[in-house]
Amino acid sequence: MTPTSLDYYGIEELLTSDERAARDRARRFVEEEVMREIVPHHRAGKFPEHLTGRMGSLGFYAPYLKEHGCAGLSYTAYGLIMQELERADSGLRSLASVQGALTIQAIHSFGSPEQHTRWLPGLVSGEQVGCFALTEHRHGSDPGGMETRARRDGDQYVLNGSKCWIGNASIADVKVVWAKDDEGRVGGFIVEKDAPGFRTQDIEGKFSLRMSRTSECWFENCRIPAENRLPQASGLSAPLSCLAQARAGIAWGVIGAAIDCYETALAYAKAREQFGRPIAGFQLVQEKLVWMVQEITKAQLLALRLTRMMEADAVTPAQISLAKRNNAWMALECARKARDILGAAGISDRYPVIRHLMNLETVYTYEGTHDIHTLAIGRDITGLDAFGG
Ligand SMILES: Cc1cc2nc3c(=O)[nH]c(=O)nc-3n(C[C@H](O)[C@H](O)[C@H](O)COP(=O)(O)OP(=O)(O)OC[C@H]3O[C@@H](n4cnc5c(N)ncnc54)[C@H](O)[C@@H]3O)c2cc1C
Repeated sequence: MTPTSLDYYGIEELLTSDERAARDRARRFVEEEVMREIVPHHRAGKFPEHLTGRMGSLGFYAPYLKEHGCAGLSYTAYGLIMQELERADSGLRSLASVQGALTIQAIHSFGSPEQHTRWLPGLVSGEQVGCFALTEHRHGSDPGGMETRARRDGDQYVLNGSKCWIGNASIADVKVVWAKDDEGRVGGFIVEKDAPGFRTQDIEGKFSLRMSRTSECWFENCRIPAENRLPQASGLSAPLSCLAQARAGIAWGVIGAAIDCYETALAYAKAREQFGRPIAGFQLVQEKLVWMVQEITKAQLLALRLTRMMEADAVTPAQISLAKRNNAWMALECARKARDILGAAGISDRYPVIRHLMNLETVYTYEGTHDIHTLAIGRDITGLDAFGG
């Protein structure tokens, strides 16, 4: 196990023994089973699929839930698990977010008891793969404008439309698809593998989150049983509430990527000599390292306070936005500074920094772009909506 991990303000003391144990379990998994897979899979642009079930068996999907095999841990333990996964690669953490905080969360929050029994155990164990299809080709930041429709036809729904940038859609057994019903209300519909009228294609040529499968999907008179509608999901607030859970995981997760960048840059700067001395001895290099320690420490305190508020059921969506916005930005800036400190070596995948940097460009954008969170917080503090429309 890695002995060092940046903890400048003694966050460790604020964690329970269960939370530390969950984090250590995730860290051990990453070091013993994941790290050797990353560079070859990243180069190939593929996810090591055998890890999906393994992560389920370790209880990494929606671990803050209690039923249906979920681990029943605190939100802070969930965050720490996401941190360790993202220390390895944002694609690994993204899988856990899509499977847990989005797909499992949606069915858990809005599904009937029969739907829980039918789909949650397989998703929680990782035997089944899930996806969460909200974004469309013409509607990203503005999901309320979605054009996908679910028309009721007897004991079936008929879906028409398309989705884009959907994690794992092409292999998902259980797809939570958001579409407008006959009344124009957003609802959640489960589309199972091989549903007639469903077509999908993976997006090629990604330079970010290469270890993640991301797909486009089309629904052309795609028929699903009416009982596959999530009965409690009514309106856009349903998918947005799932995104809030995932964003809290991101606020913690990106700290892992930032720490990996910082620790790589520190070790490199101490070893690399120029002008007859280690570059870590130059003031300009130290300023970058200090900035990273300062911002990672602030991000850790922010993330910890966020999940403590979630545990007390006393958090607002805007507070979650603030943590996602700050921490994703912070991690991206750490990756940029670390890449700079490594000089030319920083662009090679011999070091993890350039991979984190490319990955974090996605994290900065998905689950609400940086600027969309700015508008959400701006609306919260001023009472004025600057979204337009
Ligand atoms: C690798 C990857 C995986 C993803 N996985 C999923 C998934 O599993 N499921 C899913 O549903 N989606 C997923 N997404 C989609 C993601 O959530 C969207 O990309 C994101 O919401 C932004 O939408 P967009 O890309 O269409 O950008 P746009 O909405 O077109 O935004 C483009 C730019 O315009 C800015 N902008 C937009 N509106 C405003 C405004 N009112 N004021 C100021 N600026 C504005 C944005 O901030 C951004 O800078 C994924 C994306 C990626 C890259």
